[in-house]
Amino acid sequence: MPQKQKIVQVKLKDGSISKGIATGNNAAWLCVCGRMEPLLGKSGVLDGGSGLHVQCPDCKRTYLVMPDGNDLALVLKVVEVGTSQKGENE
Ligand SMILES: [Zn+2]
Repeated sequence: MPQKQKIVQVKLKDGSISKGIATGNNAAWLCVCGRMEPLLGKSGVLDGGSGLHVQCPDCKRTYLVMPDGNDLALVLKVVEVGTSQKGENE
């Protein structure tokens, strides 16, 4: 059976909405900075906590893949959460 390709919202900090694609608890989307390669991440926890952010290697924007219902559940949407000053994924 093919894995379902679900279109999900990518909610940006400026309030605009972009589109990404998800299957299961993984999501892929294009960063607003214009980076050619998509970002890829798995769903995190509902409270937006610790360690599961996805950071764009080019512009350092960080995103969180929001789960639908439970921690680490199927992808609901992707939310831009900010720009890391510290480069925490490096
Ligand atoms: Zn970027």
